[in-house]
Amino acid sequence: MPPESLRCKECKTEYPLEALYVCERCFGPLEVAYATETTSPAIDPAELKRRIQAGPGSLWRYADFLPTQGRGYPLPAGWTPLIRADRLAEELGLREVYVKNDAANPTHSFKDRVVSVALARARELGFKTIACASTGNLANAVAAHAAAAGLESFVFIPADLEEQKILATGIYGTNLVSVNGNYDEVNRLCTELAGEHEWAFVNINLRPYYAEGSKTLAYEIVEQLSWELPDRVVAPIASGSLFTKLARGFDEWLEAGLVAGELPRFNGAQAAGCSPVAQAFAAGRDFCQPVKPETIAKSLAIGNPADGPYALDLARRSGGRIDSVTDEEIREGIRLLARTTGIFTETAGGVTTAVLKQLADRGEIDRDERVVVLITGEGLKTLECARGTFETWEIEPTARSFEQARERLVLAA
Ligand SMILES: *Cc1c(COP(=O)(O)O)cnc(C)c1O
Ligand SMILES: [Zn+2]
Repeated sequence: MPPESLRCKECKTEYPLEALYVCERCFGPLEVAYATETTSPAIDPAELKRRIQAGPGSLWRYADFLPTQGRGYPLPAGWTPLIRADRLAEELGLREVYVKNDAANPTHSFKDRVVSVALARARELGFKTIACASTGNLANAVAAHAAAAGLESFVFIPADLEEQKILATGIYGTNLVSVNGNYDEVNRLCTELAGEHEWAFVNINLRPYYAEGSKTLAYEIVEQLSWELPDRVVAPIASGSLFTKLARGFDEWLEAGLVAGELPRFNGAQAAGCSPVAQAFAAGRDFCQPVKPETIAKSLAIGNPADGPYALDLARRSGGRIDSVTDEEIREGIRLLARTTGIFTETAGGVTTAVLKQLADRGEIDRDERVVVLITGEGLKTLECARGTFETWEIEPTARSFEQARERLVLAA
């Protein structure tokens, strides 16, 4: 399926495959459009599968479905584990739950996927400088991938970001710009700068390519389930790009004949302190009202989500929902995942795990459903959230002291 053009999601006007992102006619977002069966002969599904399986152990195995081939890409991402989580399932009263662990990417979040595709295309278009507006994980990924490719980078972050994410970005030798404002203000600034500099802002002027990277999560889930679809996916929503592109990934493979069945139900997950999409869902609206974020889930703290309306439409037409959870539930979600699966996630994974628990507790999930929950980032990035959730035994270096501590704990229990 060779990429053919950029196309407006609203009025369908076509544009060349360049660094463009907004429709001149209607201001709608642009998306990559691929050749259809009438313009390019379809490849036999069995042949496609063989090509995928013979590909590299990274997201570039799906190059046939991406706008760039990524040949010689210097920091391979994707092909992360899909783990069957029986202990988590049992605790929730479910039968088949899988954890897609995207913390296993080079910079420990799903952002390595979107940056891979945007940066590969930026190189083809001849850009020498890469930039982004980030809620944290994107900063890590842009700085690392630009370093690997030998390109200069500018990373703009809100000043109140977690220290772990700031340190894990600066180390790559980027130009790290800390902005005294929230993400939505950083994004507005970068949109202005994108008009003044010949830079590839991965999530602004290269957004159509960036967004395509998220589809690879859907492809991997299908391939790792032995070419079957899950019944339900629980995914986080910040701008709503990941959420909507997952569905596009499943749809493309249904159309290509690589998998049979129906689109899974889509459950969106937000933090209550920044839940414009969940609020619109609950109110039955098809648009979002911007909010001012106030939550520990900083990687999801986008108060004015660009793909909000598309996320609402997807949740409704797939028979899913969009829910939110409090900061306390997020902390409990992180703990629940850690103690039942051995996976330590950042706050975004606490959000999806807590929403999964909420759905299970309310009886919204049939016991026989096959559910995939997305874990999009690593716990070491939001370490503060673990503080105060457990006790440490403090002893002298003697066996006696240890036994005494043990007795005290047994008595206390
Ligand atoms: C960016 C991000 C997401 C999803 O972001 P969208 O803007 O909705 O695509 C999810 N989880 C983590 C950890 C992220 O960093
Ligand atoms: Zn348009």
